[in-house]
Amino acid sequence: MSESCLPHKSDDFLALTARWVLPIAQPAIEDGLVLLRRSKIVAVGKRRQMLPHLPPKVPPRDFGEAVILPALINCHVHLELSDCPRPFPVESGSLVSWIQKVIEHRQARGGYRPEVVTRGWEECLRYGVTAVGDIAQPGTSPKDYHLNIRPAEGIPTSQRSFEPPPQTAPDKSVQKPHHESHLPEGDIPLPQAASTPSPDWAYPDTTPAKGVMFLEIIAPLEEKAAQVLEQIELFLRQPFPEDLFPGLAPHAPYTVAPTILEKIIEQAAQHKLPIAFHLAESREELQFLREGQGPFRQLLESRGLWREGVFGRRRPIDYLRRLAQAPRGLIVHGNYLADEELDFLADHPHLSLVYCPRTHRHFGHPPYPLEKALERNIRVVLGTDSRASCPDLNLMEDLREVGRSFPTIPPFQILRMATLDAAVALGWEHRLGSLEPGKDADLVIYPLPPEYRSDPHAALLSTSSHPLTFVRSGNFHPPRNSRR
Ligand SMILES: [Zn+2]
Repeated sequence: MSESCLPHKSDDFLALTARWVLPIAQPAIEDGLVLLRRSKIVAVGKRRQMLPHLPPKVPPRDFGEAVILPALINCHVHLELSDCPRPFPVESGSLVSWIQKVIEHRQARGGYRPEVVTRGWEECLRYGVTAVGDIAQPGTSPKDYHLNIRPAEGIPTSQRSFEPPPQTAPDKSVQKPHHESHLPEGDIPLPQAASTPSPDWAYPDTTPAKGVMFLEIIAPLEEKAAQVLEQIELFLRQPFPEDLFPGLAPHAPYTVAPTILEKIIEQAAQHKLPIAFHLAESREELQFLREGQGPFRQLLESRGLWREGVFGRRRPIDYLRRLAQAPRGLIVHGNYLADEELDFLADHPHLSLVYCPRTHRHFGHPPYPLEKALERNIRVVLGTDSRASCPDLNLMEDLREVGRSFPTIPPFQILRMATLDAAVALGWEHRLGSLEPGKDADLVIYPLPPEYRSDPHAALLSTSSHPLTFVRSGNFHPPRNSRR
């Protein structure tokens, strides 16, 4: 780093140092320093090499025995289920029985609750996750992803409170979609949003989420195609803040008629939207795809959603071929993908595979085909899925689950799945996922126990530690309950 590359107005800068800095895009740096200017990273390197070149009056804030790494990215979550106190049990290994419990949960609380999304987003931040690929119920507004994060106390104003992200003024001419009028009849019921006041958050403020808000589409009846297109149009007419991109999430092969899936993919291609699709999640699903029989057929019949000739005679590869026509896609779960289907993913790198490790364990599936996927250089990224199948939204615990289940996979590679690879999967690689000049100043800092001083990756994956703090768009935050 040369001195000339550093601007000289000290108020804009924040210098963070720690025993280890993990840039992800390059090898770990012992005694590293990350220099931030406002909401961006401007330099990363060895402390002793960078200190002489820091702007005047920018003393490094030293975290000592700690690890600085990029903030994590949760590629698959349903924040609208963040009010589940614990995962619902899975009876006899049946995904359908679990889905019934999710439906009952939504009914019992009165449908979609925007404050639950806000609560989930707050929980993500507490665990150092600053971007999500969230599956949003119809009726969800980008505003539901706003928090007001109070800057950390004890840090000079000039270093802690930079320009707020630009907020788009609500367009009053655009009618907010009412999910009841656009959902096909008989679908999973989603009553009007409740008007419960927001709880007293740990960080009251108006910071929006980063990532992708995928509109969840459930449409098993072919005759509802026009309504689905209208639903998508209304979703896209909403004002989106700069940091939250729209995406489309046709739910799964058993809840979306194949003819409607084609139309949704056409919309994704036309509007250049990423797509997320649950696929090959359970054996029940494979049976349904093949034969049009089994518990999923019974579920559709019980809700008046079964029509002869719509489903059956298909395999996951048939869906992958369709999904590959979207500009970017997340194949969520893929627990039961065949070798031929993994080969297809390897040939289509704009499709990423999303592994939800603790959710996978909760359902008791056979071991995840992670090694087969990585051998093929498929991009595998990580998600928690919702609190209906995962005890919390602490994504680092999912990385640790990967480490325990696959001890031969290098910890560095596991971290990359939840940072740089995740950023690529969501279309955020130009701003997030690694500590590199020009990227967003989004990072998280973990403690480094003495026994792991020489191995920061093991410190993250082999302990149960929580973040000391995180930085988001240059704002510094002390997470609530950071230590248990
Ligand atoms: Zn999911």
